[in-house]
Amino acid sequence: METLQLYNLPNIWELQCSLPTKYSWKTLVNLKMSNHWKNILQIDTIQKTSLKYLAINQIKNGKPHISYTTLQPTILDVRKGIIKSRMMTRTYTLQADRHKFSRYEIAPTCQMCNQEPEDLTHMLTTCSALSETRKETFNPIKNHVTKFIGERKWKETFFDRHQITVLIIDCTNFSYIFRESKLKIEELEMLTRDMCYKMHNSRLKLINISV
Ligand SMILES: [Zn+2]
Repeated sequence: METLQLYNLPNIWELQCSLPTKYSWKTLVNLKMSNHWKNILQIDTIQKTSLKYLAINQIKNGKPHISYTTLQPTILDVRKGIIKSRMMTRTYTLQADRHKFSRYEIAPTCQMCNQEPEDLTHMLTTCSALSETRKETFNPIKNHVTKFIGERKWKETFFDRHQITVLIIDCTNFSYIFRESKLKIEELEMLTRDMCYKMHNSRLKLINISV
């Protein structure tokens, strides 16, 4: 009873009056359960800033995110996937996070460039210490996208560093634009995964030197 109510399904009396076929019941249960969990996820996303880069409206129940379906069965790719997942779910710790976790005792300033708080946007789009790796890994992303959507649309869509961060972290946020232009989103996902991994490696090297 409670389960039927939870998923907003017909109650036992309604079912007794009109018993659905096995197929229609299965379809209805899948749909109702999917809607239920999607709603919960959406509410959670609004409340949890850690999920702010994820394209929750693109998630389909029972279907893994493109970030997982495009993973190659190699140790290197799995490593890249782990870093990407941590960044997507904001469990990748940067100086700005340490600042919050230490109740503001640790300074949030980036230890590599000392220019501003080190959050994901700073690391991926701005940090001057990582500019070489960024150039090497972001250019293929920009080239891939502009090849399909054109320079003008690129400038209109990715007009600031927040939008660029969103693109790198979860490119499915822009599926509505990419679909029209027949952009191969799987290729784009692999490029962003590569960028996140290489930026992470360069950062680790620099942090270890400065420690
Ligand atoms: Zn920096």
